[in-house]
Amino acid sequence: MAGNFVSTTNPCRMCRPLGACLAFRGIEDSMVLLHGSQGCSTYMRRYISSHFREPVDIASSSLSEKSAVYGGAESLKRGVKNVVDRYSPRVLGIATTCLTETIGDDVELIIGELLRDEPALREVEIIPVSTPSYSGGHYNGFHDSCVALISRLAQGGPRGDGVNLFPGFLSPADIRHLKDVMDGFGLSAVIIPDISETLDGGIVDSYRRIPAGGTPLEAVRRTGTAAFSLEFSAATPGRQSAALLLKESFSVPAERLPAPIGISYSDRFFQAVSRRAGRPVPEHFARQRERLLDAMVDAHKYLSGKRAAVYGDPDFVLGLSSFLADVGVVPAVIASGGGGREFISELELACAHLEDPPEILTYTDFGEIARAAAASGVDLLVGTSKGNHIARELQVPLMRAGFPIHDRIGGQRMLHVGYAGAMALLDLLTNTIIAGAQDELGYGYSYM
Ligand code: SF4
Repeated sequence: MAGNFVSTTNPCRMCRPLGACLAFRGIEDSMVLLHGSQGCSTYMRRYISSHFREPVDIASSSLSEKSAVYGGAESLKRGVKNVVDRYSPRVLGIATTCLTETIGDDVELIIGELLRDEPALREVEIIPVSTPSYSGGHYNGFHDSCVALISRLAQGGPRGDGVNLFPGFLSPADIRHLKDVMDGFGLSAVIIPDISETLDGGIVDSYRRIPAGGTPLEAVRRTGTAAFSLEFSAATPGRQSAALLLKESFSVPAERLPAPIGISYSDRFFQAVSRRAGRPVPEHFARQRERLLDAMVDAHKYLSGKRAAVYGDPDFVLGLSSFLADVGVVPAVIASGGGGREFISELELACAHLEDPPEILTYTDFGEIARAAAASGVDLLVGTSKGNHIARELQVPLMRAGFPIHDRIGGQRMLHVGYAGAMALLDLLTNTIIAGAQDELGYGYSYM
């Protein structure tokens, strides 16, 4: 028996409800309540705060031992009333946790009873999302929440000229850049969810329990009348696509793309927007692309032939792998804590021109990533702070990117998307490799 046992050593993903907390944070005047025990929300607050460096409130129904045995209905009803009383949200996401999924609490039924008994609560859009952590990671919870928001709130009507953009889980800086791109094309875009301010705000004179920003509720309702939807979800199953749901429900044309990380995927994004907008790529972004090409030539002598292990969320890793291949670094090991058929087939396309096909690890953990990276003889790691110990063991540098970045500051300000994002990543990657070479030599050199 012991010989057959395979444990997970430090999974390459986080809790599924943590993704729900991030997605609901991108909706204006929204709160999230975790239906489960107190520790779940404490852990997730800690994780999110340490990356974004912002206070993050996550409510909990705080199940006791008794609730775990007899059901958490009363705890959930009490929790919803408390959150509405203290935060006055317009939208309240309720994400389940392992415990409440295991005991089988029917959240829709419980909320239905609550709304029948407390009609005043009907003013709040209460949106349950099923997020058992034993069957998915935070990226699933994020997409689950987008689908739940659209399923509950989107309304049809005469076709307008607005655009829906579902970016998936990117950084606040990425969302700001995407807004600039859509503005540059003269498009009126709704980004769902929009964490650009709520997870990267400034110092304000008076404290707000729910930070300003996020996608307005009315804008989410209007998504059913948009001219088209774009979604960065090429590595995600169709059942987790809010854009496809809008297409099925309201015939809104949908285009699903890889996250525009690196020049190849940025080209696909800019071409798609240009085609849909009926306008050429604005000069400003065309110039960014020219500068990026120039920088790629400059960096080539440091990057060519280097081998990397890259890991993280499926859609993000797909973009990073394509970026590495664009700039001459071999993504020798590509790993994610998730990753289904879509993830693998998109990666195979992105890496088709490489002489050595990458080792692709899906539903993996950091034990397995360490083994594969060592066997493959990689020159560096690319991913979250969670790989720091592997980089140290292998004595190779780590280029931090993605979520979470706990051991550096600025994760929320990292730009990954578009030509500007590819340029920022290129500089970071090249300088990480140069610094690693300097460390290895044991003495610095000042002229490269
Ligand atoms: S019990 Fe489940 S939902 Fe809660 S912190 Fe643990 S893995 Fe996450």
